[in-house]
Amino acid sequence: MTFVERRGTMAQDGPHSQTIAVIGGGIAGLTAALEAAETGYDVILIEKEPALGGRVTRLNRYFPKFCHPTCGLEINYQRLRKNPRVKVLTMHEVVAVDGEKGNYTITAKKLPRFVNEKCTACGECGKVCETEIDDPYNYGMSKVKAARLPHEHAWPMRYVIDPVVKGTDDQKRIEEACKYGAVDFSEEEEEVTINAGAIVWATGWRPYDARKLETYHYDSSPDIINNVEMERLANHDGPTGGKVVRPSNGEPAKKVALIQCAGSRDVNHLPYCSMICCLASLKHAAYVLEQYEDAEVHMYYIDIRAHDKMQTFYERLKVDPRLKFIKSKPAEIGLGEDGRPYVKGERTIDRELYCESYDLVVLATGMEPEAKGVDIKGDVVKDEDGFVLALEGEDGGQFSCGVAAGPFDVALSTMSGTAAALKAIQAVGAR
Ligand SMILES: Cc1cc2nc3c(=O)[nH]c(=O)nc-3n(C[C@H](O)[C@H](O)[C@H](O)COP(=O)(O)OP(=O)(O)OC[C@H]3O[C@@H](n4cnc5c(N)ncnc54)[C@H](O)[C@@H]3O)c2cc1C
Repeated sequence: MTFVERRGTMAQDGPHSQTIAVIGGGIAGLTAALEAAETGYDVILIEKEPALGGRVTRLNRYFPKFCHPTCGLEINYQRLRKNPRVKVLTMHEVVAVDGEKGNYTITAKKLPRFVNEKCTACGECGKVCETEIDDPYNYGMSKVKAARLPHEHAWPMRYVIDPVVKGTDDQKRIEEACKYGAVDFSEEEEEVTINAGAIVWATGWRPYDARKLETYHYDSSPDIINNVEMERLANHDGPTGGKVVRPSNGEPAKKVALIQCAGSRDVNHLPYCSMICCLASLKHAAYVLEQYEDAEVHMYYIDIRAHDKMQTFYERLKVDPRLKFIKSKPAEIGLGEDGRPYVKGERTIDRELYCESYDLVVLATGMEPEAKGVDIKGDVVKDEDGFVLALEGEDGGQFSCGVAAGPFDVALSTMSGTAAALKAIQAVGAR
């Protein structure tokens, strides 16, 4: 490896770097980084979270086959372990990029983890830590110790300590509990710059903020959740150990409403279709139907978008009489006097008005590009929705893949990761 570290700058010698920087360590970025490294290129993979894997680590199952996302991720981690050409920087949030092909400067905020590479994940720091925080892995639906492993399949398998502990008695307890010299509270937030010859943007997405949907009153009840929270609710390492229950009181959630296009295909929110929400909601219907024989699931939709082979997945679920499809965009969702959420509106086909109560309402919010707030200059542009696109016909060195480039499922994200790796290789030139 030819990385040189000097005064906070990671670089390859010379102005025409052949190093490829991949920004974002989700499934798309992991794919791009590994494909480039396995072809013989040095890669810096930059991730803002304490562990790799991105949003898919928090999914319960993958449509259409219902396999667990950790299987696919684990294969990539094995490839990563075997490949010294990929330098992984976690807890580095890229805030700006400048420069040109062969010589980009990436500015990142390095966040303190307070735990170094000597950590063996023995868990002693977590045992003595008394402070609890909202668990970011579970979207704040549960509490977790401030000294924690990000999740059970985390890569790197290393603890992270929340800054809230600094200066408290917990700090002393944690320092004393660690037998390996892995705890380091002297770490500070700092700015680092990274030099690279080509860049792959793989910054992915965040769920659209359901609080912006004023008539859906997301904040009025814990039993009105969004689709990423539903993934956690159904997951064995989620806040309820995998039981789909009413977050308000822990009772079984047997009657469930799934609300499609919650903010999507709406000029006031996300004007585009996120492509995966109908399929994710069909998956959510399956989670409920699997758990409760007497379940009743209602899917409110504009039209069901199940592309290509996903149509078979849709057809398979459609025949279950416990799953009802209601063509309508609900006008209002709120908390009823009986403490249960209701869904109100007009059916599109027969113009019948309805107002129905549920145990749980799930808003299928779309995917909003995470790169929206990042200061990107040079040979890529952000379209009006914030997706990152390489300029057509330009001789540039920045590319994008995964949901940074468009609303893709995992299969398309990995394919675009491979394509972006190839373009980055072409940009830095033959070795
Ligand atoms: C409810 C729901 C269910 C879904 N279920 C399925 C399914 O069953 N099957 C399927 O195929 N697809 C599913 N999807 C879609 C799937 O989640 C995406 O296709 C996938 O997450 C895309 O991966 P990605 O790497 O592009 O983005 P992400 O998973 O978002 O990863 C991006 C990474 O970049 C990092 N990052 C962001 N900004 C920065 C920065 N400035 N600096 C450094 N790092 C940064 C993030 O922390 C993250 O780790 C679902 C989506 C939703 C909403």
